[in-house]
Amino acid sequence: MQLDILFCGVCHSDLHAARNEWTNTVYPCVPGHEVVGRVTKVGSNVKNFKPGDLAAVGCMVDSCRRCEPCRHGLEQYCEVGFTGTYNSEDKKSGGITYGGYSNFMVADEYFVLRIPEKLDLAAVAPLLCAGITTYSPLRHWKVGAGQKVGIVGLGGLGHMGVKLARAFGAHVVLFTTSPNKKEDAMRLGAHEVVVSKIQAEMDKHLNSFDFILDTVSAPHDVNAYLALLKLDSTFTLVGAPEKEPTVHPFNLIGKRRQFAGSLIGGIPETQEMLDFCGQHGITSDVEVIPMQKINEAYERMLRSDVKYRFVIDMASLSK
Ligand code: NAP
Ligand code: ZN
Ligand code: ZN
Repeated sequence: MQLDILFCGVCHSDLHAARNEWTNTVYPCVPGHEVVGRVTKVGSNVKNFKPGDLAAVGCMVDSCRRCEPCRHGLEQYCEVGFTGTYNSEDKKSGGITYGGYSNFMVADEYFVLRIPEKLDLAAVAPLLCAGITTYSPLRHWKVGAGQKVGIVGLGGLGHMGVKLARAFGAHVVLFTTSPNKKEDAMRLGAHEVVVSKIQAEMDKHLNSFDFILDTVSAPHDVNAYLALLKLDSTFTLVGAPEKEPTVHPFNLIGKRRQFAGSLIGGIPETQEMLDFCGQHGITSDVEVIPMQKINEAYERMLRSDVKYRFVIDMASLSK
């Protein structure tokens, strides 16, 4: 099916890709995997969408659909490798996929999501990556009431992590390197805010967390967070800096702690997340920009100056 793209969120992965920080970018590259649009055409086998419907596309546009993870709706862990919305080999039509910084796209119905009614469309776009990438690990590690949960970094992913962990009933502590984000973090749902550069503030939380989700986009010390976990608790990395982290063994073995990772979320879970956000009125806090401001937006993201997701208004392409 074909959609006209209305809005596309700006993920830090777009910046990593545009600048070849993961050394796998194929140019020309069209980033963008937080896509909200309106259906314009459908093929004869499309069942659940018709022209005029709102629709969304996230980080994947295809997978093998036969392997065990695919059969369990975990297409992001497809054993053959999923086809990313951009900068990915297109196994069906050849060439490389181009993403959502664009007027329109064609996608397979299975990878197209339904958008809940009444939510602001620009603010829905970031749910397709930032939303699901935080929802999935919070659900997988069963975050909920009675637990103390840490979210590291208040950017696109981090602010969704705060909102979702709060909605799941946890006691939420936000770790930031930016003291000026304290008030925002509390407004977004954090119960406590810790400025991670102040050791005394970190020390107050030693051995106390049930779960910590790290969304930081740049190299940083993960040991400082491992030391805050309780016995048998998990630290999960979703941030993907270009340099590998160093883990001190004693930070794991001393309290049987686990160091884990998590990749976006499968299609059924992405729809579940969108429906959950619809029911709870959860969207992203966005700054809508015209396409012409994308390079400025990237520079601001590198300075942690984003509140809390840039979203491109595609109407700006025809101006
Ligand atoms: P973002 O909006 O730029 O936010 C990143 C945040 O990290 C910043 O706002 C800042 O928060 C913190 N930070 C930045 N530099 C730092 C440094 N040197 N030391 C400590 N903290 C720092 O980025 P995003 O879009 O949320 O993406 C975050 C990361 O997740 C990226 O690496 C992205 O590629 C990755 N990602 C992974 C997945 C997945 O499936 N696992 C999916 C999407 C994105 P404070 O100012 O609060 O410190
Ligand atoms: Zn992303
Ligand atoms: Zn598969």
